[in-house]
Order: sequence, then C-alpha cells, then structure tokens
Amino acid sequence: MKLELIHKKIASCKKCELSKTRNLTVPGEGDPNSKLMFIGEAPGRKEDETGKPFHGAAGKILTQLLEHVGMERQDVFITSILKCRPPKNRLPKKEEVAECLKHLYSQFDSIKPKYIVLMGNSAIKHVFGKLDMSAEHGTVKQKDGRNYFITYHPAAILYRRRLFDTVKEDYAILKKLL
Ligand code: SF4
Repeated sequence: MKLELIHKKIASCKKCELSKTRNLTVPGEGDPNSKLMFIGEAPGRKEDETGKPFHGAAGKILTQLLEHVGMERQDVFITSILKCRPPKNRLPKKEEVAECLKHLYSQFDSIKPKYIVLMGNSAIKHVFGKLDMSAEHGTVKQKDGRNYFITYHPAAILYRRRLFDTVKEDYAILKKLL
C-alpha cells in the first residue's frame, strides 16, 4: 500500500480509545524511500498539537544525532509505535499497541527500510520484549525478516548528558551499516 494511503487511514483511525482524546494523529514524516526508519513509543504533547513526530526537546537531540553522521531528518523516516498521544503521556495499553502496530507494519512494507531503529526500551519492548539496553545498544537484531537496530531514546540524553557520546557512537555504527 502507498504511504499516503496508509497515512490517510491513520488520520481517520478509530481502532482504539486514543482516537477520542487525540488532537492530531502523528503518522510520521520523512523520506518514503529511506533506508532507515526511526521508531519511538508514542507522540507527546507537541507532536499531538502539530501532527509531526519528535518535535520537542528529544526531537532536537535526534536531529543533532543525525547531523553528527551527516544526515538530515528528511533523509530518514521518523515515526512511533502509536500514532495517537496517550492522555498525559501515560503508558500505552496492550490493546492500543496491538491495533496500532498494524499501521506500523504497513509502513514497513511500504518503505522497505534496510534498518528499523528502535529508540528506547519502551519502543523495543513492543517488538522484542525486555532487552538489556546497556549490553544491546548499537547492535542489530532480526525478526520476521526485518533488521532492527537497537539504541537509546534521545530523551534519555536529556536526563543523562553523558550518554550523548555513547549514542553518537551507535549512530556512527548505523551509518557504517548502510
Ligand atoms: S493509536 Fe493507532 S490504533 Fe489507536 S486510534 Fe490512533 S491510529 Fe488508530
């Protein structure tokens, strides 16, 4: 299915209760033919207001990390597991994730990225369950014929600045894989 059609479906989606509280859906943005897709867990307040992914403080760090390896946001595709904001940024419910993953898998099939970058434990757990981030970051894991690259969520750097260099190294590894 074409990406714009998938995004049209997302815009009118009422498959879970988050459709009642969202302001805008946040389908994702970037290059529809990118080799890289970046996945967070769910939109926050800024994203819900703008309909754009990663537009708050964590988004600025993501932009810096991409620039560190000579890429820009428009070179990749950025989205999240959920396309609607959970109220007060609460944790996503199992049934919400189960429904919304269908949209994400349609996006994978349309974009066909070489690597899917799972950012942070909260995104990772919906695909792989619990992983030890300190041991697994910067590595590739396969599932269902797809390549996933494991790294920290950019927001983690907001609280632990010393992680910045570690995550920059992850992005350098990722760039070399392309
Ligand atoms: S979170 Fe996903 S499944 Fe739920 S209403 Fe939004 S787009 Fe649909």
